[in-house]
Amino acid sequence: MLPPFMDPFFYLLGKAVFAVALAVLAAAIIGAALIAYSFKTGHFFMARIMLTFVSLLESLIKAIFRTFGADDAIVDDVGVRLRNYINQEKFKKVPKDERAIFMPQCLRAIDCPAKLTPEGLRCVNCGKCGIGTAKAYAEGLGYRFFVAPGSGVIKRMIKKYRPGAIVGVGCIMEIKEGVDLCHRYDIPAIGVPLLTSGCISTELEWDRLYETISDGKRSAPDHEGGAGEMVEPSEAKS
Ligand code: SF4
Repeated sequence: MLPPFMDPFFYLLGKAVFAVALAVLAAAIIGAALIAYSFKTGHFFMARIMLTFVSLLESLIKAIFRTFGADDAIVDDVGVRLRNYINQEKFKKVPKDERAIFMPQCLRAIDCPAKLTPEGLRCVNCGKCGIGTAKAYAEGLGYRFFVAPGSGVIKRMIKKYRPGAIVGVGCIMEIKEGVDLCHRYDIPAIGVPLLTSGCISTELEWDRLYETISDGKRSAPDHEGGAGEMVEPSEAKS
């Protein structure tokens, strides 16, 4: 029953706003539940719908995680894994010699001797960090390999070489931006997040990178995140 002092239009508007807010909250709760399930099991249920939830309702879903005392970084982590999951089929169809890898400069050793060039930092495989081993292995598979000091180099190299698929290593925010950028260029991209973020001496789960670039067929060549045993290109190509 409409109160006598209330305008019918505003009454209906209020009801509509309340209904929409309730629907959004319900969608965020469902999204949060799906994300928690995916994080726990590694299975993605309705991946594209989940990604829409994550993209549109990210702040609300994170707030729900915090309300229940859960780490809201799970939302970002699942967001990256969802993008990878959705892109992986297209990614694997691209021959390795048409793909490119972009590594962040923060993974380098502090006393890295690599020189800056128009195509990023030129790693000389000095053995002080894991990038040199990864470069040798990836180039052996046919990849173009870049150590990018910023997104400007990435955009330039994409325009110059037009890779058919991309592997990007970085912090979660960089990966999210990078995958969105690749989506605009219609390039399937897989993100491999760093274990730690920061400007120097970051860490990476190298096995995950090697698994990604070899389409899940092998793990890392022997190395300790620094000087590594070189994998011969002929072996890497097998
Ligand atoms: S291996 Fe690492 S520290 Fe050495 S040149 Fe390459 S990026 Fe720099």
